[in-house]
Amino acid sequence: MTDLQEVLDEIAAEAASVEDCGVVAQYIPELAKVDAKQFGIAVTLPDGTVHSAGDSATGFSIQSVSKVFTLALALGKLGDSVWSSVGREPSGNPFNSIVQLEQEKGRPRNPFINAGAIAVVDLIMAGHQPKEAIGEIIQFIRHLADDDSILIDEHVARSETAHGDRNASLAHFMRSFGNIDHPVDHVLGVYFHQCALVMNCRQLARAGLFLASQGRDPVTGAQVVSEQRARRINAIMLTCGHYDGSGEFAFRVGLPGKSGVGGGILAIAPGKASIAVWSPGLDRVGNSKLGTAALEQLARRMDWSVFGA
Ligand code: GLU
Repeated sequence: MTDLQEVLDEIAAEAASVEDCGVVAQYIPELAKVDAKQFGIAVTLPDGTVHSAGDSATGFSIQSVSKVFTLALALGKLGDSVWSSVGREPSGNPFNSIVQLEQEKGRPRNPFINAGAIAVVDLIMAGHQPKEAIGEIIQFIRHLADDDSILIDEHVARSETAHGDRNASLAHFMRSFGNIDHPVDHVLGVYFHQCALVMNCRQLARAGLFLASQGRDPVTGAQVVSEQRARRINAIMLTCGHYDGSGEFAFRVGLPGKSGVGGGILAIAPGKASIAVWSPGLDRVGNSKLGTAALEQLARRMDWSVFGA
């Protein structure tokens, strides 16, 4: 039987020796300061045990990985009516594209591109002040990670607010079609804070465990989402989780996954493991370069691809 810890140690050692580890996100100044030469990986198994290697205890900005959790939260609160505000098809466009949004009359293609995630935040905000909605999101993620120490980095949230013209355009555009109810600055305030959550690989892998375990947290026994919903969230992660590199990720790795421009990726091997990897250097479409390579190797060596060994 393949030894998971040995595989992780080898993957981390290999990552440490790679020269070209991609380029850190430049458009959010706080993220541009992060040292690209970092790499961490953690795997949580259904019995709750954690294996990790590299910088797995170093916190990073989870950015768009948070969109998995806000989707789960919105579906829990509003059920399938979420799908009248946002679709579930891959976009094939960059994560912040506005073109498709015009063609499709303000209804974003899926909940993982920026427009879709902003629409999901608007749904979560119903009946809440922005601060309360931020509180609800953070509590949900702390609950999933079983860790109350998880916080938001205010510097990152502010840095993104100051450079958030593109996201503001997307939100105003959707509002002009009646697909955003709340004032745009309130919705963006919540969205930027959700993206600025700081987690390490161990916390992130733990928080994703319910998706590897039919919607149930196998450690606490809590049913987070129904089995069908977990399956569907995984399906959207597989088809839409890596921007316009989602097809390539499915081809190389073969697992549902969601990446963020902070360099984190949450990947799910259903029934087998929840995996978080982080390396801040990104490839051309904005996915962690070493993170993707690590997952490709891990899935191959553990026979975890959802498409078969
Ligand atoms: N907060 C980032 C943005 O809206 C998230 C992007 C990402 O991680 O994909 O631009």
